[in-house]
Amino acid sequence: MTKEEMYKDINKWKKEKNAVILAHYYQDGDIQDIADYVGDSLALAQKAAKTDADIIVFCGVHFMAETAKILSPNKKVLLPVMEAGCVMANMMNEKDIKKYREENPDTIILMYVNSTAACKQYADCCVTSSNALSIIDHYSKLGKKILYGPDKNLGYYAMKNSDVKLDLWHGFCGIHNNLKVSDVKKAKDLHPNALFIAHPECNLDVLNEAAYVGSTKQLIEYVTNSDKDEFIIGTEVGVIHEMKKRNPNKNFYILSDSLRCFEMKLTKLEDLYNCLKDEKNEIIIDENVRNNALKCVDMMLKLSK
Ligand code: SF4
Repeated sequence: MTKEEMYKDINKWKKEKNAVILAHYYQDGDIQDIADYVGDSLALAQKAAKTDADIIVFCGVHFMAETAKILSPNKKVLLPVMEAGCVMANMMNEKDIKKYREENPDTIILMYVNSTAACKQYADCCVTSSNALSIIDHYSKLGKKILYGPDKNLGYYAMKNSDVKLDLWHGFCGIHNNLKVSDVKKAKDLHPNALFIAHPECNLDVLNEAAYVGSTKQLIEYVTNSDKDEFIIGTEVGVIHEMKKRNPNKNFYILSDSLRCFEMKLTKLEDLYNCLKDEKNEIIIDENVRNNALKCVDMMLKLSK
């Protein structure tokens, strides 16, 4: 079957089934192009919650589809590839964070959105890479101990940019964390006129080399608003699809060929096609867990206004 034939069927089923397709920026271009909304995980979940769709197909990884389900309990949320997980989210498990909560009842737990619903239920508030600094700053004023996890790199970055002292969970994104300063130096030698920009999931040594640090959405906006026309990109390669779409005359160089998230790339157009056709791979969350996780997400939304 050709891509166009698949697109035709997908568009037909979308109407018949009243479905909406979401694609994270790290998905392949042919999936981004058929999606109703492309964005970062929380923005997509929020957009889908506002639609009157009966079905949400989330092209991304498991915790993202869970976040959509947390915000849209009455919609059927489908994940094209059920095995698509997130290395970082899997570095925190429910048993360990539950134990931490029980042993540290007075500690504020701030949870990166890249975490399972089962873990979110033990947190006081969720954060994203866009709002982490302001939410951590808000809680630091309460004078209590703060645990931040699972991404240690975003935690180190927050500490570098404030006076806050955090306890950190030792999780990380295998894709971003592997980058080295030598990769940056090599890319700058190859592209001397390009600005290096990076995602805060990179380690601090690499972030210190960056002209700008931001979430996927912030990086896209940065290159779009900049008067520069060459950039070295320090995040997952999929983001370049949207950068190029918005800025066809600018040049983007990926910092390293290793910046491909294997889990994100598990989803192929055929998987989206079969998922919507058969309405399979539904995300189910225990209602108690969902309600507790929702409190943590709602608190973040309240503090981000
Ligand atoms: S890029 Fe890293 S943090 Fe993002 S989904 Fe992949 S493994 Fe998880």
